Amino acid sequence: MKRTIEDVSWSGKTAVIRCDFNVPMKDGKITDDTRIRAALPTLEYLKEKGAKVVILSHLGRPKGEPKPEFSLRPVADALAEALHTEVRFFPSDKVVDDTVREEVRGLKPGELALLENVRYRKEETENDPSFAEELASLGDVFVQEAFGTAHRAHASTAGIASYLPSVSGFLIEKELRFLGEAVSSPERPFAAIMGGAKVKDKIPVITNLLDKVDYIFIGGGMVFTFLKAEGHDIGTSLFDEEGYELIPEIKEKAAKNGVKLVLPVDVVAADRFDNDSPSGIYGVGEIPADRMGMDIGPKTEELYCDLLKDCKTIVWNGPMGVFEMPNFAHGTKAIAECLAANEGTTVIGGGDSAAAVTQFGLADRMTHISTGGGASLEFLEGKELPGIACLEDR
Ligand code: ADP
Ligand code: MG
Repeated sequence: MKRTIEDVSWSGKTAVIRCDFNVPMKDGKITDDTRIRAALPTLEYLKEKGAKVVILSHLGRPKGEPKPEFSLRPVADALAEALHTEVRFFPSDKVVDDTVREEVRGLKPGELALLENVRYRKEETENDPSFAEELASLGDVFVQEAFGTAHRAHASTAGIASYLPSVSGFLIEKELRFLGEAVSSPERPFAAIMGGAKVKDKIPVITNLLDKVDYIFIGGGMVFTFLKAEGHDIGTSLFDEEGYELIPEIKEKAAKNGVKLVLPVDVVAADRFDNDSPSGIYGVGEIPADRMGMDIGPKTEELYCDLLKDCKTIVWNGPMGVFEMPNFAHGTKAIAECLAANEGTTVIGGGDSAAAVTQFGLADRMTHISTGGGASLEFLEGKELPGIACLEDR
């Protein structure tokens, strides 16, 4: 268990908090403020406890130079609106300079300020110790709240922790509780649902989970590489050569560990990778040579949901089909609904899976939706994340 903001007596102290405010933007406007809203409980807590709050984040990839299109100013405005309170913005092309230092010293207890995009400095991604120290010099305690970048060892995500006592915010605590504990001490049966495009990307996750789960359900584009390994024709479906080579190993490990590896029994296949393409439902042995698999089929939905009903812990990573196209979103939606109805622990990891669940309006019905795409995958791979490892243990 890591120390959290609740283990610190904040009165009169300055918190330097790393948030993940890397929000999607279009024409200077924020198109999705999920990441801003996710950090509100921690920011509200610090404010209420009388801390002075200095907020750090990156936005996009300005590649180590100040670029106005990557300025965090719109985030400061959106944050102020969401918190119903003033959020100062201390812009500097250097992120930290004498003016910023002075402004930070002038903050009153309970006041919040956002600094400029930490990636305006190339030292950020280099995890340069002197930049980390500059950031640390602004406060008394480092608060980690950026799960989305916790898998990166950067100056503001890990380096800074060498210079300050370091604790987790509520968001990180929640990620550790659900992603961490679901995987390390799950209530059983424990199922993983794996989907998405490529097998190769998910092999490390599958390999790690094979030591822990009772079931692995396969969906998404990787289905076809598995089906080919079963000797089926897969038409023009996605095929991943590198992943294919590794399937015998996965099957062997599953058998050895008594893990049930469940594959689709039917799929939806189309002429083209296009929502409006003609398509049909086929048994897995019957995919036409000129069609590509786009989704799991209705019998598979039924089979998966039936087995998932009795599972007490379910971790889901990767959509079941090309859910961005409404005609091929059915399988992903069916699985999302089945998780929503489950009374056990349901955890969603992965950017596209989280987007799918949100798109179906089912986000509130899940136990936990991880805010970090890459970070949640590395977590499920059993890796230690630098942005978490650097925090103090309780
Ligand atoms: P996550 O972000 O949740 O980890 P991935 O990035 O691995 O998920 O995979 C998501 C992508 O996989 C989606 O863009 C989806 O369209 C794609 N996908 C799912 N099924 C198929 C399929 N049958 N063929 C091609 N792409 C697919
Ligand atoms: Mg993705």
